[in-house]
Amino acid sequence: MPIIIGGVEPFTTVDFPERLAAVLFCLGCPLRCPYCHNKGLQDFNGKPFISWETFIEFLDSRKKLLDGIVFSGGEPLAQPDLYESMKIVKNKGFEIGLHTSGVNVERLKQVLPLLTWVGFDVKTVFNAYEDRIPHSHAATVEKCLNLLIASGVELEARTTLDPRVISKEELKQLAYTLSGKGICTYAIQEYRLHPLENNPPSPEAVKAFFADKDLLSELKSLFKNFIVRRA
Ligand code: SF4
Repeated sequence: MPIIIGGVEPFTTVDFPERLAAVLFCLGCPLRCPYCHNKGLQDFNGKPFISWETFIEFLDSRKKLLDGIVFSGGEPLAQPDLYESMKIVKNKGFEIGLHTSGVNVERLKQVLPLLTWVGFDVKTVFNAYEDRIPHSHAATVEKCLNLLIASGVELEARTTLDPRVISKEELKQLAYTLSGKGICTYAIQEYRLHPLENNPPSPEAVKAFFADKDLLSELKSLFKNFIVRRA
């Protein structure tokens, strides 16, 4: 059975580096990040946006216009038939990108040979993961990350700076951990307020990460490519 599609972005120049791409949003995510902007994609039993067959028709209309398709979410690695679905897309001549939070090691191993590029969310330091991100499993996240690093696939690690999930000191620790693992590209992303959020962090606490120039320059020194994404 093909994957369940929660949404499609038909054209992007920013979600798959150096490629013209479309994004397929998979329906369902086991995690519950407090800052999630895709809450409508969390429910595995939600209403599909379009059928797989309609998506394939869309792909056929985009041959030679797009370089790649990014499987995003929700959480693609939570889709049992991810491999078969990616293979169909790859066989049509598209490169495959993946946005993931690293929730399933075996499924990642299965799809790894199909992947060109991965954007990997590392939410916080591993020893705080399960306290801060409901339903997460830190050891699984770290195994997925190690697998990607060992594979040599093009990889961007990224962290959304929500002060409820990571502190400035923890961000520094995490950056040293990631750099020590050999990660070359690391992005920090500013938390954006979700309109339905009941108890958001203060704007001052959110801005504090970016006001700390010493911290930013220390992080920059650790990576070949260090990216700062402001909201
Ligand atoms: S991993 Fe992504 S989709 Fe899942 S809850 Fe977190 S932010 Fe939302």
